[in-house]
Amino acid sequence: MGGESKDIMSSSSKEYPKLVERPVGKKIRGIYYDRLRQFDAGGQYEKYNLQDKINEGRASGDKWVSLEVYSPPDLTRPTFKDATSHKFKETHVGESFGPSWSTHWFRVTLTVPEDLQKKDHLEFQWDANNEGMIWTEKGEIVHGLTGGGDRTEWILPKSWYDGKPHVFYVEMACNHMFGNAFGDNIQPPPKDRYYQLWKADIVAVNLDARQLHIDYWIVGDAAREFPENSWESHKAFDVCNRIMNTFIAAEGSKDSIKECRKIAQEYLGKLVDTSKQYEGDQPYLVTAIGQCHIDTCWLWPWAETKRKVARSWSNQCDLMDRYPEYRFCCSQAQQYKWLETYYPSLFDRVKEKVKKGTFHPIGGSWVEHDTNMPSGESLVRQFLYGQRFFESHFGERCQTFWLPDTFGYSAQLPQICRLAGMTRFFTQKLSWNNINKFPHTTFNWVALDGSQVMCHMTPAETYTAEAHFGDLKRSVENHKSLDQDASSLLVYGKGDGGGGPTWEHIEKLRRERAIADTVGLLPRVKLGPSVDDFFANLEKKAAEGTEFVTWYGELYFELHRGTYTTQANNKRNNRQSEFLLRDVEYLSTLASIKDLLKDDTTSRKSKYKYPKKDIDFMWEGVLLCQFHDCLPGSSIEMCYDDSDELYEKIYKAGETATIDALKELGFKDKDDLDTELVALNTLPWNRTELVQLPIKSERPKYAIASGTTGAMQVSELTAATDRPASIKELEKGVFQLSNSKFQVLVEDGVITSLFDKEAKREVLAKGAKANQFVIFDDKPLYWQAWDVEVYHFESRKELKPGKSYAVETGPHRVSVTTETQISSQSWLKSTISLDATVDDVYGMITVDTEVEWRETMKFLKVEFPVDVVNTEASYESQYGIVRRPTHYNTSWDMAKFEVCCHKWADLSESNYGVSILNDSKYGFATIGNLMRLSLLRAPKAPDAHADMGRHHIRYAILPHAGPLDHRTVRAGYNLNNPLKLHRHPNPAQLTSMLSAIRIEGPPGLIVDCVKRAEDDEDIAVGLFPPKKGRNIIVRLFDSLGGRSQGKLTWGDLPVKKVAITNVLEDDLEELEIVGKNAVEINVRAFEVLTLKLQLE
Ligand SMILES: [Zn+2]
Repeated sequence: MGGESKDIMSSSSKEYPKLVERPVGKKIRGIYYDRLRQFDAGGQYEKYNLQDKINEGRASGDKWVSLEVYSPPDLTRPTFKDATSHKFKETHVGESFGPSWSTHWFRVTLTVPEDLQKKDHLEFQWDANNEGMIWTEKGEIVHGLTGGGDRTEWILPKSWYDGKPHVFYVEMACNHMFGNAFGDNIQPPPKDRYYQLWKADIVAVNLDARQLHIDYWIVGDAAREFPENSWESHKAFDVCNRIMNTFIAAEGSKDSIKECRKIAQEYLGKLVDTSKQYEGDQPYLVTAIGQCHIDTCWLWPWAETKRKVARSWSNQCDLMDRYPEYRFCCSQAQQYKWLETYYPSLFDRVKEKVKKGTFHPIGGSWVEHDTNMPSGESLVRQFLYGQRFFESHFGERCQTFWLPDTFGYSAQLPQICRLAGMTRFFTQKLSWNNINKFPHTTFNWVALDGSQVMCHMTPAETYTAEAHFGDLKRSVENHKSLDQDASSLLVYGKGDGGGGPTWEHIEKLRRERAIADTVGLLPRVKLGPSVDDFFANLEKKAAEGTEFVTWYGELYFELHRGTYTTQANNKRNNRQSEFLLRDVEYLSTLASIKDLLKDDTTSRKSKYKYPKKDIDFMWEGVLLCQFHDCLPGSSIEMCYDDSDELYEKIYKAGETATIDALKELGFKDKDDLDTELVALNTLPWNRTELVQLPIKSERPKYAIASGTTGAMQVSELTAATDRPASIKELEKGVFQLSNSKFQVLVEDGVITSLFDKEAKREVLAKGAKANQFVIFDDKPLYWQAWDVEVYHFESRKELKPGKSYAVETGPHRVSVTTETQISSQSWLKSTISLDATVDDVYGMITVDTEVEWRETMKFLKVEFPVDVVNTEASYESQYGIVRRPTHYNTSWDMAKFEVCCHKWADLSESNYGVSILNDSKYGFATIGNLMRLSLLRAPKAPDAHADMGRHHIRYAILPHAGPLDHRTVRAGYNLNNPLKLHRHPNPAQLTSMLSAIRIEGPPGLIVDCVKRAEDDEDIAVGLFPPKKGRNIIVRLFDSLGGRSQGKLTWGDLPVKKVAITNVLEDDLEELEIVGKNAVEINVRAFEVLTLKLQLE
């Protein structure tokens, strides 16, 4: 017994003992739940609730905010200096500005009226539903604006509360954060959109009221989102209810607002108004990092991205000044370079913040690029150019590869990341999978070669979180790796011109942290310290014995499968530029060291210089176009006009660099008697191919080019040849093509039989039709340019071929062309060719298809049903092969109904197989024994004209006895790098030089890149201090997936030292030179090995 109150139990009272006077009811949760909104929502009570108290004064109109405008002509985007030198004319709120993509400069003269001068906090608020940037009168960037309420205020300096006129500028961009479409953002933007300026005001803000609004919002969320049976939820309801009652009782007086904030402290504690909230070293689960995902192009062109970067990052610098706890990370060296070029003083401000540790460069790559389609060397260059930029400008390389939004992740990324100094990878896009849920949050990702990186996918499942209460809740609820570690990243802030996090996000996070500290239940969040610290903790745990779950191979994205095909021209440009750069670097390297060769007597005093600047320009361009909305084909038409123009410049620079290098190597353009016709082979193996001679004649004239790397001999063929190609028209429209290896039957344009004479085997399935064009209805659920959906198969329609005729009749090449009408507006013309047998290694059937494509939401593919059985097909990817199922056993298998390949796909049995090679395609599907190359799509959003027009596509069927091996790998390179004819006076001398760098060893070992070292003193462009001497970088890899031992040799080149390096060209290990000119190499399955050859 005990605890009774004497008063209550007193028997002197005649009344019953009571705790309350009158009946008290339980609060009906549903009703009070709905009531919560009354306090700060818009609508019928807005004039009577907290919203009405936030703004306590406003001045608008010409007297206080006087506006003049200059509208530059022709959609130009002039600089501040240029724009402000023009005449401005008077304008007013209410006027409209346009059209889409135009720029308007406003001179704003602002005078604070007397009644506002005594207020605590004044803001300039501007909204025209588009983007804008505030500049000082002197031309300094102050702040970015995003219309439509996303970010429309700028805090006025206190010195302006003086009743005097103050001038500044607003640079208005006529697009909103997601471009210029109305309603549905991914529809093609209209050209004539206008934006009405509806707000240009001076506003006095009651900061207590604004803070109470955030208090109430977050405590309200706790009431709503904590479990109904938790005391934490009930307590939050009580706090909110008492706040409302207190406010109502005093009719929202200033004092009552202060009183309400005190009530909120019962739930939030007393620290939410300062960064002290984060002091102390309590353990936390969630690392929150500010982020502004700016797509380098997407629903707007590059030119607008440059301004989005300036607008967004100026906001972030401003927030860092106001919130000491705030940390922001940002990727994409290209965007930093733009800022440095176009906004140098803002770049300096960013640099200062980087130094302070609040602005964190991250990612290590040039852009946030696609990883399905770029070549291995392109992925390497993304990091080489990215890391070199970050290190040279900020003193440090990045440790985390940052790719939140890219559409699937290549199986070799962990290896390449490691080689580029990064051990960590962040993404979240797989949360968009539309078939299977990816099972891990934090895991160990394993590359084809066995390299591993720590990978984290934010459980909040977004990289543009609003820092909501729910985002934090999901950080634990959605976490799929709690067995090993419960920590996670929360990546918050508006992307794409929304300008990153706002003050509101940071204020909300303080309160969410406060809830964890005072009432608990919500995971404790900390701002920063950094993404790298987050990963460092995971790595520490791994080092101490925590075994994180593993994921081997590619992170296949189960959505956006159309991006392997959309914008065919852009993809072709990517492939061709990659091969062009390969040749340019190879030839320029040799030209730049030619003087070191003993037998070079001609050019000791040569003025030739390795064109480093031009090569950088070309690579930076190619890397930019690999951005994750550019190369995949998911941008608006303007972006592809831009990329076409850039590729044109890349081709031109490449052509000039090639001509210069060839000239230095003694090639002559002119056809004179002292020179010999040669075929230039830049690939590291012997080739024997039929080449067409550049001679004008009635029938094409052919020669055999044969030899090793370098200038190959070209022998003109006479009419007779020992293993000719022949063609017979067996009956109308039925042709038989033969050479010593194959007999091909073409009936009505499709191949009905392909017989391998040597293997004595029919290659095609019984009754099958190869090179059959098929068309599908292609209407995905929403994302047109991005997606092809599984049900498209059900609309398969074979295209009916029209007339067929023989074009070439031998003996060197035979071909038959078939014309096919696709629709009233589209057609294709496909030529199947067979060459006389010239090589014992390769024999293939090539197909050149010209397409006039004018379709709507259709998908064109070409089929090859082969007589091969395997449950897995092989696809070339970066530095290796990815095997994927040919069946639909499980939903994971079926999800891969359309996949990415590089130069070939292959279906093989143990002793025979068929490879389908291509010169510019990336989409493929193998279903059972049916191999299908994806050719063209016709989405109408976001580019209404995607892929309309003429296309030239080359592909080939390569049947092979034996399993998949180096023959397919090499044939893929050969098809993409056709021999080019040149003239040289002394090709024999040249060959020793051009083929100096060679591999002796298994044929799957491939030299993929030969270049000069980045910082050699004779070529350096100044990012880093030049290094003495000349060095050649050689990058090779095992292409087939087997440990390989071999030798790298360099002929007569005077090499004095060889080192293994990473892809950033740091020396890792010196190799012993064996004999005069070789090092032994030992390569893991699918390993990439970079060597640096130091020359004397
Ligand atoms: Zn993106």
